[in-house]
Amino acid sequence: MKNLSFSIRALSFLVPPVMFLGLLLSLRPYMPELSQNALVLLANLPYVLLAVGGAIALQIKHMRLLLLAAVTAASYGIVQSKLQASLAQPGVADIYLALAIALPTLVLFLLFLPERGPHSGVVLAACISGLVALAYASYWLAGYFPFAVPINPEWVVLWPRPDYVLPLALSALHFLVLLAGLFMLCLRNSPANAAMIVTLLCGTVLLAVFYLPNISTVTFTAAGISQVHGVLRCSHAMAFRDELTGLLGRRAYDDQLRRLGGRYSIAMLDIDHFKRFNDTHGHNVGDEVLKLVAKKISRVGAGGIAFRYGGEEFCIMFPGRSARQCVEPLERVRTSIADYDLVIRNTAKRPKTPAAGKKLRGKTTPVETVSVTISLGLAERSRECPKADDVYKAADMQLYAAKQGGRNRLSVLEA
Ligand code: GH3
Ligand code: MG
Ligand code: MG
Repeated sequence: MKNLSFSIRALSFLVPPVMFLGLLLSLRPYMPELSQNALVLLANLPYVLLAVGGAIALQIKHMRLLLLAAVTAASYGIVQSKLQASLAQPGVADIYLALAIALPTLVLFLLFLPERGPHSGVVLAACISGLVALAYASYWLAGYFPFAVPINPEWVVLWPRPDYVLPLALSALHFLVLLAGLFMLCLRNSPANAAMIVTLLCGTVLLAVFYLPNISTVTFTAAGISQVHGVLRCSHAMAFRDELTGLLGRRAYDDQLRRLGGRYSIAMLDIDHFKRFNDTHGHNVGDEVLKLVAKKISRVGAGGIAFRYGGEEFCIMFPGRSARQCVEPLERVRTSIADYDLVIRNTAKRPKTPAAGKKLRGKTTPVETVSVTISLGLAERSRECPKADDVYKAADMQLYAAKQGGRNRLSVLEA
C-alpha cells in the first residue's frame, strides 16, 4: 500500500514543467520567424516527446502515465487534423467543445486511478474502455452545450483577454479539475500527478487562447516535456524510494553514505519485538506501524535524513551534527512513538455472521489501540571511526547495546 500522507512539498514537482510551459509561451511570438521546415518539425515534436514518455512508462509499468501519453497524443491529433479552422465553421465548435469537456474528464479519471494496480491486459483494456466511453460521452454532451457556435462574445468581457474563447462553464470545469489535481498531488506525493496537472493546464491554455498562431504546438510540446519529466521522476523514485513508507531506500542510503564528509552522525533504529507484534496483530497492522515510524523519523529535525535500511530497521544520517546535537531530537522521536496509540479494528471481536453483525449495527465498532517502542544506537564520526562504514558499525553496536539494556532507549557512543 502506498503511503498516503498529505504533503504540500509535492507541489515542487510542478515547478520545472510549469516553468517550461511559461518559457515556451514566451517564445511563441517569435515562431513565425522560423522557416516552414522548422515549423513542420516543431509541429511533430509533441508526438516524439509523448512517444518517449509513453515508452518509458511502459518500460517501468506505469499504466497511468502510459494512458496519459495516449490521451494527450490523441488530443493533439484531433487538434491538428480537425481544429485548424474557425469555430464558426460547421462541426468545428462541436469538436472543440467535446475536447474541452473530454480533456478534464479524462485527466480526472487518471488522477483517481490507483497508482500501480495489477498490470494485466484485462485491467488495461478496462481502463482504455473507460477512457473511450468518457471521450464518447463528452462528444455527445458537446451537442447539448448551451454555448454552441457562434460562441457568445458577451461573457468574454469577464476575462482580461479579448481573445479568450473557452466558455465560462468549461473554464470552471477545468479549474475544478486542476484543483482536484493539486489535492491528489499532495495526497499521493507522485510526480505522475504533476504531469497530469500540467498536461491539463496546457490543454486549458490551448483551448482558452485557441486562435493564437502555433499555440497547439507550444502547449502540447510543454505537455510532452511535463510527461517525460514526470516519468523520469517516477522511475528515479522507484529506484531510490521505499514503496511502503515513502522513505529513501537502501540504494539512496549507500549513495548518501559515500557523500558524507567532515562532521556527521548516524543513528540506527529498530522496532522492538516486532516479530511478536506481527504474530499478534497481523502483517497489515505491522505495515501500518512501519509507516507510522517512518512518518515520525522523517520529521526528526536537526537536518536528519531518514532511510528505510531494510525490514523494520531504519537509519538517520545527520550531516554536520555531533552525536550530542542529535540526542534531543532522537529522544523526542522515541518518546513520541512510544506514546502514540495506533487505533486498529479489533478483528477478533468482529461479528462472525451477517446476522450477528446486524445486531451490533449502530453500536460502537470494536476498536483497539496498540503501541510499539523503538531502540536506537547513535555514533558520530571521530578519530576512532574515521570512515562512514565505521560510524555505521559503531551505531549498530550501540543499537545492540540499547536492546541489551532493556529496549525503548537510545544508546550513544560519543567521541
Ligand atoms: P527485537 O526487539 O530484538 O528487534 O525483536 P524483533 O522481533 O523486532 O526482531 P527481529 O529482527 O527478529 O524481527 C524482525 C521482524 O520484522 C520480522 C518480520 O516479520 C518483520 N518485518 C520485516 N519487514 C517487514 C515488513 O515489511 N512488514 C511487516 N509487517 N513486518 C516486517
Ligand atoms: Mg531487526
Ligand atoms: Mg526489531
